[in-house]
Amino acid sequence: MKLKYYEIDEKKLLQEAKKGKRIAIKMPEGLQPYGYEILQFLKENGIDAIFLADSCYGACDFRKVEGIDRIVCIGEAEMPYLRRKYLPPVSFIEAFYEFNADFIGKALPYLEGNRIGLVSITPFIHKLEECKEYLEKRGYEVFIGRKSRRTKYDGQILGCDFTSAMQITSIIDSFLFIGDGMFHPVGLYIATKKPVVAANPISKEILREEITNAAAKIIKQRYAAMAKAMEAEKYGIIVTDKIGQHRLQLAKKILKLIEKKGKKGCIIMMDNIDEKVNYLGFDCYVSTACPRVAIDDADKFEKPVITPIELDIVLNEREWENYEFDQIL
Ligand code: SF4
Repeated sequence: MKLKYYEIDEKKLLQEAKKGKRIAIKMPEGLQPYGYEILQFLKENGIDAIFLADSCYGACDFRKVEGIDRIVCIGEAEMPYLRRKYLPPVSFIEAFYEFNADFIGKALPYLEGNRIGLVSITPFIHKLEECKEYLEKRGYEVFIGRKSRRTKYDGQILGCDFTSAMQITSIIDSFLFIGDGMFHPVGLYIATKKPVVAANPISKEILREEITNAAAKIIKQRYAAMAKAMEAEKYGIIVTDKIGQHRLQLAKKILKLIEKKGKKGCIIMMDNIDEKVNYLGFDCYVSTACPRVAIDDADKFEKPVITPIELDIVLNEREWENYEFDQIL
């Protein structure tokens, strides 16, 4: 079945959907317009399902749903360490984008050095070996880092987990990211401080300068948020119950640190971190949930929303020069 640019395996979809009696489907925003089509396909094959149309930012974004005994998630790859923890159980049907690896030839003039680290995200990751061969035939030495407990594939990165890239950072000259969107390559650049070239298999665009510019803009925005946070007295420490973003222990440690520094704080449970933070009565928020929220949605917040690493800087527990991207590892 073709959904937008992506192909999904119908046989696997049916096989997984048949594992439950009360099925719900869930998918990332880009695929949600195809929800009806998928429900119809299941119905024609004798399966009634409901559509969970709330957020689905990744394989981390799941919680209990009453009356449902299996969720079929279309378009995400599982987080292996959560395999037995999803409640109800979740079947992941990945979506793949087919492309010819030759297009990365356009990226070669932008690469620095001869030792290249290859990274990607799930719809494109099945082509990583082909991209590696393409580069090797042209004389490059290519490295693909090993997967982490949160990623399914070697070379795969998440917006909150750059493990496969960090493993090879010290032995490569630059990274080639195969995928779409800016968040992953920009995060990769901030996390590793190595040159990053992004090759988009859908648009065939190659980005390099755009990534460094976007990273500089984000760092500036983060420094402004931290400067504002330095005036805060009352901190709200946000915890979510989304299964792959839940960091209550970290929130408790943060609360202790805040109190040790003579400030006040409370732990707040919140699933969707949105404009509500503007009127909850705290001066500043520390988000232990998805690290993307503080960065992607910064414009929505009137109060500073910072990451745990940024809090360390605000409270003089870490030097400004040692700024790091927050990761859930
Ligand atoms: S970046 Fe955020 S949404 Fe993506 S996998 Fe990590 S926690 Fe989940």
